[in-house]
Amino acid sequence: MYAERMSRTRRRMGEVGIDVLLLSVGADLPWLTGYRAMPLERLTMLVVPAEGEVTLVVPRLEAPRVIGQPDVFALVAWEETDDPVALVAALAGAPATVAVGDRTWARFVVELQARLPASRWHPGDLVTAPLRAVKDGAEVASLRRASEAADRVAAQLQGGEIPLVGRTEAEVSADLGRRLLAEGHARVNFSIVAAGANAASPHHDAGARVIQAGEVVLCDFGGTMPDGYCSDITRCVYTGPPPPEFRDLYAVLEEAQAAAVDAAVVGTPCEDVDAVARRLITEGGYGEAFVHRTGHGIGLDEHEDPYLVGGNCDALVAGHAFSVEPGIYLEGRFGARIEDIVVATEAGPEPLNRVPHGLVVVEG
Ligand code: ZN
Ligand code: ZN
Ligand code: ZN
Repeated sequence: MYAERMSRTRRRMGEVGIDVLLLSVGADLPWLTGYRAMPLERLTMLVVPAEGEVTLVVPRLEAPRVIGQPDVFALVAWEETDDPVALVAALAGAPATVAVGDRTWARFVVELQARLPASRWHPGDLVTAPLRAVKDGAEVASLRRASEAADRVAAQLQGGEIPLVGRTEAEVSADLGRRLLAEGHARVNFSIVAAGANAASPHHDAGARVIQAGEVVLCDFGGTMPDGYCSDITRCVYTGPPPPEFRDLYAVLEEAQAAAVDAAVVGTPCEDVDAVARRLITEGGYGEAFVHRTGHGIGLDEHEDPYLVGGNCDALVAGHAFSVEPGIYLEGRFGARIEDIVVATEAGPEPLNRVPHGLVVVEG
C-alpha cells in the first residue's frame, strides 16, 4: 500500500515539476509511510527525490517507533551531536524545486532554505493534497467506523442520555469527549457545545454558561480513531418545545443540508454543492446568516481537501470524503448547524453519519 502511494506521489511530483519532496510533522508522512512524527524540536524528515532512494531521517531516540518499510524508504537515525538539517540538505542534493510539507516547523524550513538557496520552494500540498483527498476502500472503511462511533454519541445526545439543563457547556463538552473515547476514539479533537445565543457563534468555546430549559444546544464534536482517521458531526437539540421562529430556521437548514448532500454527486464542482445549500438558505430568508463554507474534506486530518466553497471549481471524484455542514447564525438569539460526513461514490453520495437530522426535543 505504501509503495503504491509512493509511486503515485512520484508521478504527481513529475506532473507538477517537483524535484524533491520533504515531509515532516503532519498527516502526509503517515499517509505515505505509516509513521507519524512527534512534533518535537528535533527534526524528522522524509526526503523523497524524484528518483533514487527515499530516506526517512529521524532522531536516534525516535528510531524504535519507526516500523520499517524497506521497499518504501531507508531509515537514517541522527545522533544528538549531528546536524540533521545538513543531513537532509545533502540527501536533497541540488534540487531546482522543493515541496515541503505544510505543517513543517518554520525554523526547519528557514534553515533548509539557507542550505538550498538556489531552489524554488513550494507547499507540499501541491503534491499530496489531491492524492490524499481521494480515499481508497480501506480509508473509506476507516472513516465509516469513525462516523459510526461519533453517531453512537450523537444518538446518546438525541436520546436524552446526556444531562443538559443545569450543567455548564464545558461539563457537557467534557462528557461528549469521554463518550467519544468510550466509543472507540483514541483522541478527542474538539467538542463544541453552544447553548442559546452562544449557538450563533459557529466555533464557540464551550464555557461556564449553564444550560437552561427552553434553548437550543448545538453540539459539534469529533476525534481521531486509533488508525488515524477522523470523525466530525454536528447535531442540535432543544431543551423543551422550540419556539416557531426556531422551528422555521431549522426547517430551512434541514432542507438545505439534505439538498447539499444529494448534490454531492461525482463530477459536480465543489462550489456547486456549496451553492445548493446557500441558495436554499437564502430563499428561506437567512442568506446573510450562513457565514461559512459548506464543508471540508476529512481523513487523517479533520480538515483537508476538498473544500466545498465558492471558487473551488474542482469536480468531486469517487473517494472524496467531506463534511456537509451548513449553518444559520442569528446573533444575540440562537443558531443551528447540521453536519454529516459524506463520501462521493459512483453510486451517488454516501452519508457516513446516519443519526436523525430533525430537531430533537430533549427534556433536561
Ligand atoms: Zn468548524
Ligand atoms: Zn464539525
Ligand atoms: Zn466539520
